[in-house]
Amino acid sequence: MKRSPVRGLLEITDLRDESDEAVYSTGRDCQNHLNEGGIDVIGRAREKMKSGSTMRSEQPNRHVLVVDDNKTIQDDFLKILQPQVEPDGMSLTRSSLFGESSNPSRLDPFQVDCVDQGGAGLALARRAREEGFPYAVVFVDMRMPPGWDGLETIERLWEVDAELQVVVCTAFSDRPWEEIAKRIGQSDKLLILQKPFNSIEVLQLATALCRKWDLAHEAAGQLDELNRQVEERTAELLGANERLTQTNADLLRTVADLEVAQAETLRKNDALERLASRDPLTGCFNRRAFYAQFEEAFAESREHNTELCCLMVDIDHFKRVNDQFGHGVGDQAIQAVSGCLSAGLRLMDTIGRYGGEEFCLMLPRTKRTEAADLGERLRIRVETEAGVRVRAASGLAITVSCGISSTALGARTPFELIDQADKALYAAKESGRNCVMALEPIIAWTNAPDQFEPQVRRITPRVSSPPMFR
Ligand SMILES: [Mg+2]
Repeated sequence: MKRSPVRGLLEITDLRDESDEAVYSTGRDCQNHLNEGGIDVIGRAREKMKSGSTMRSEQPNRHVLVVDDNKTIQDDFLKILQPQVEPDGMSLTRSSLFGESSNPSRLDPFQVDCVDQGGAGLALARRAREEGFPYAVVFVDMRMPPGWDGLETIERLWEVDAELQVVVCTAFSDRPWEEIAKRIGQSDKLLILQKPFNSIEVLQLATALCRKWDLAHEAAGQLDELNRQVEERTAELLGANERLTQTNADLLRTVADLEVAQAETLRKNDALERLASRDPLTGCFNRRAFYAQFEEAFAESREHNTELCCLMVDIDHFKRVNDQFGHGVGDQAIQAVSGCLSAGLRLMDTIGRYGGEEFCLMLPRTKRTEAADLGERLRIRVETEAGVRVRAASGLAITVSCGISSTALGARTPFELIDQADKALYAAKESGRNCVMALEPIIAWTNAPDQFEPQVRRITPRVSSPPMFR
């Protein structure tokens, strides 16, 4: 037996059977096959995994790589890390009698591969990583001519497997630690094993570093699991957020649709209100809507003690217009008068179509004299403009008669005020039409000075040339 360069190895090998040659076959086969151009070392390891004799994913990683150009040292590593005991006679007897295994499995056996060059070690490490059976620990010799030295081998190994725990096997004559550290930096995955080394040191290093790899792997796995959970939860939250955003957008759209619908409803309500309150021919308030406003104005006049005047307007001889020109022209005449009256009103005044050719005007906060002036201006405007507006009947003369009343005359109800204006209008008709008549108070009874009798007064001056249909 050759003396091993590994201190203490003889004591271990002495404990074994002389047929140690068979024990080292794994590493030697590996080396031989590598020398023949490469073998399926990893595949062999996988076969062992299948047989349950080596690492599974949940089992400790005891996969060790030895890179050393010295065959004797490779053998020493195999003897230390893969010691095997042949079944003795007693074991075989127990096996046959009690059915116990004749080759009891070792506790955490190492799976060792040996190569003599850095390049071959790199190829093994890369493939082991790809196959999902990475090495936990690699023992690297410092000097391995003619190939890469130990440092270059380590650098390249870490390029393909950064988790590798590395033990540099070096003699004092090799590079000093400072140079090693300067070359590959300080790393907690790198240890120095000084040659000549003790077999116990090798065993302890392999055991401790495999355990360290396991712990690091476990921690990384837990970290991966945590990251996975975080990603899963983040994805759930993003999904929930997306759904909320979508729901919010839907709600905003719904609100916008409702606002549009509400605006449309308001518009339709306005249109309906207008239809319900307006006279379709002239656009003036109809009698019902006008009277409602007149009641309000009357109440306000009483409450604030302001004067409210009422102006009744009737188109003169309207029946003749209808008879001579037809109802189409009659309608145009009504529209023309309505246009003249509306154009001459103030903002606070209101006009309603009270009957067929009759209009009622409400003049709030207006004195009788102001109402008289306004009534006369409106009469003149109709006289000069209305006929011109009726394009269907050229030269048509249209005039109106007007009657004015005021709350100052003591009307007790809106209807009474309108009735008074109607009386004044009747007087205007009686007075020859195309004129304005206003109701004026005169004291009637001398024994009752607070009582007075209304009297109609003509506002419009007498004229000499009556228009066509007066
Ligand atoms: Mg060497």
